Amino acid sequence: MFENKGRTEIEQLGEFGLIDHLTKNFEIKNKSTIKAIGDDAAVLSFEGKRTLISTDLLLEGIHFDLSYTPLKHLGYKAIQVNLSDIYAMNGTATQVTVSIGLSSKFPLEAVEELYQGISIACEKFGVDLAGGDTTSSKQGLVISVTSIGYADEKDICYRNGANEGDLLCVSGDLGGAYIGLQLLEREKGIFLENPNIQPDLEGKDYIVERQLKPEARKDIVEALKLMKIKPTAMIDISDGLASEILHICKQSDKGCNLYEEKIPIDPMTYDTARDFGIDPTVCALNGGEDYELLFTIKQSDFEKIRNNPDISIIGHMTEASAGCNLISKSEKVHPIKAQGWNSLKGNQE
Ligand code: ADP
Ligand code: MG
Repeated sequence: MFENKGRTEIEQLGEFGLIDHLTKNFEIKNKSTIKAIGDDAAVLSFEGKRTLISTDLLLEGIHFDLSYTPLKHLGYKAIQVNLSDIYAMNGTATQVTVSIGLSSKFPLEAVEELYQGISIACEKFGVDLAGGDTTSSKQGLVISVTSIGYADEKDICYRNGANEGDLLCVSGDLGGAYIGLQLLEREKGIFLENPNIQPDLEGKDYIVERQLKPEARKDIVEALKLMKIKPTAMIDISDGLASEILHICKQSDKGCNLYEEKIPIDPMTYDTARDFGIDPTVCALNGGEDYELLFTIKQSDFEKIRNNPDISIIGHMTEASAGCNLISKSEKVHPIKAQGWNSLKGNQE
């Protein structure tokens, strides 16, 4: 992927040369960013707002596989998955810090690609690169992203605010990132057995993109504001619908009824899951990495969202004693279990 280009050893630039090289084209976009890169700490000012902070650590071989993940996509995704957490609080993301650990196998050209993806994500989502750290690693690539944002206290959506009777809603569609990963893993396996066979991902762009290039749902947060809806609870879907629903139920001390037939699944996700012999509903429930938003709203907000093509109503909240239930297409009631995606993906921590 990066071996074909020229190879400039990072040692030639030194740590400061590298940082300067990577960050020189990032411009400040937010007035809350008083000082970004270049001093001992970034200086931010949110003037009367609550500050939101979220952080993620990504390790090569655990969270990503560079044999099928272009570094540009990885940089983009690292920012997206992190911003998603700020949006899940109903906040505005304004800054990120990016810390990287690099082993000697990465030339400058590779890190440049990573930062291209980071830069595209920062531009698109209007966030400033406010700092980071750069070290060498013994093995593989380490990326840690911290995102910072703000919200008025009255706008913040915690996980614990769902009430009995609230509608359970989800943005976009689910299961695509997981089935995209299955496809990439299968093609990798075939390639390793026979390097003459090129990966066959034709016509599968959507699910491959769902895995490699997820989009944080800033647009949904903005749409909800325009519709004058404040979710009573919200969470982003990183570990699969089942796990996230259980978080909202547990922290809100409520139960829920989730209707299988209402879960939004893209036709390509559905068909590919079938080809793999996997139940598409299981992909949505336990797959993870979709980075859609799961939220609850008051019933009185129903009319405002019923015709929104980006939002599906998938169930409603009940009293805690009723439990968290999935109502299957054949109207059977199953308790929702958090499989998370640890068990599915195997190599996830
Ligand atoms: P310190 O020695 O105080 O840790 P560094 O020399 O590591 O400072 O960093 C110098 C400046 O460059 C700081 O503003 C820091 O936030 C920023 N920085 C370091 N590494 C990165 C990186 N990988 N991406 C973005 N900014 C970085
Ligand atoms: Mg440092």
